[in-house]
Amino acid sequence: MRGTGPRVVRYGDDDWEVLGLPEASPIFRVKAEAESWKQAQVALLPKSRLPRMRSCLCCGDEFQSEGYHHRMCGPCRRLGSDVAGMAATISGTRLRRVTR
Ligand SMILES: [Zn+2]
Repeated sequence: MRGTGPRVVRYGDDDWEVLGLPEASPIFRVKAEAESWKQAQVALLPKSRLPRMRSCLCCGDEFQSEGYHHRMCGPCRRLGSDVAGMAATISGTRLRRVTR
């Protein structure tokens, strides 16, 4: 796994949480409980929802997707919010910043 995909992380002496899943993790006091919760959650997920490497929709770079909703790499997602803003502007009545 090498730090990718669902994983158990430690926050404090007795605080364990599972990252990399669509479900928000409870805090566990015991690592083994966090591990078993993680495995139960992973078993519930359809494969398409598992975090995995994807090609960015925008630039084609490989990146680790955090979930099914996550289809663009970090830089493109930041750019994407600009693009979305532009698209909203273009589809609205006020046109601005259409030229480069
Ligand atoms: Zn990208």
